[in-house]
Amino acid sequence: MPEAKLKVEMLAFTPKPGETAATAAHMCYAGIDIEKLKQKVSPEYAKKLLKRLTEEGHMSPLEHASFTFAIEGISRACSHQLVRHRIASFSQQSQRYVKETGFNFIVPPKVKSNENSLKKFNESMGQSEKAYEELLKEVPAEDARFVLPNACETRIIVTMNTRSLYNFFERRLCVRAQWEIRCLAEAMFKLCKEAAPLLFEACGPICDRLGYCPERETCGRKPLRKDAIKG
Ligand SMILES: Cc1cc2nc3c(=O)[nH]c(=O)nc-3n(C[C@H](O)[C@H](O)[C@H](O)COP(=O)(O)OP(=O)(O)OC[C@H]3O[C@@H](n4cnc5c(N)ncnc54)[C@H](O)[C@@H]3O)c2cc1C
Repeated sequence: MPEAKLKVEMLAFTPKPGETAATAAHMCYAGIDIEKLKQKVSPEYAKKLLKRLTEEGHMSPLEHASFTFAIEGISRACSHQLVRHRIASFSQQSQRYVKETGFNFIVPPKVKSNENSLKKFNESMGQSEKAYEELLKEVPAEDARFVLPNACETRIIVTMNTRSLYNFFERRLCVRAQWEIRCLAEAMFKLCKEAAPLLFEACGPICDRLGYCPERETCGRKPLRKDAIKG
């Protein structure tokens, strides 16, 4: 029963993503034709404009730049959280058409670091694998998969536009986010910063934008809302 490792690659993204979003924004504010518009939006001007957009919350121009990621080595538990982000496109490896050979799975770090928990976890994975393989001899994969655990590895391709990525990163980069989706968000965020530094300059966990922590308990980076906003 091999353990799977997180791998995230950026497959593609909109060419000149920052300039594209800034051009869309400038179209809103300038009474000029497209040729003049393209000349006006230099990298320096794009930087200024993108700062203004994110400060003012005028986020729709950011929808013109999209990013596509190929992801493997995440659990079905994690992919379930990922696909809750509806403003995105997903293609996920099917458990109907693809049989789970090799039975790759994800082990949570807290399970791994506790000998007793790890023993229980591995026993349970072994039992699931055995049941799955026995069922496969009797029923189609689409039915045998019902005994597969949340820990099973999945592969998924996701495309999100920048506005949706901002929403995703604000929630999932939070220190208090569930560890696996946070690891995934951190890997995606690093790739976005490399591909489009201008566009993601103002992006981060939600407390960075709000100036306070909207959770019930803070990790300490920012004060709680009640302590930050008096009255
Ligand atoms: C800390 C945390 C705990 C969570 N706990 C739970 C939980 O216990 N149970 C659970 O079911 N989910 C839970 N979720 C998932 C959460 O409710 C969202 O489904 C998920 O974070 C996707 O966010 P989103 O809807 O903003 O993203 P998207 O679906 O990508 O939507 C982006 C934005 O578009 C707008 N939007 C999209 N669809 C609609 C719509 N139908 N109507 C109006 N506006 C829309 C909203 O402004 C939304 O923020 C949790 C998420 C986090 C971060």
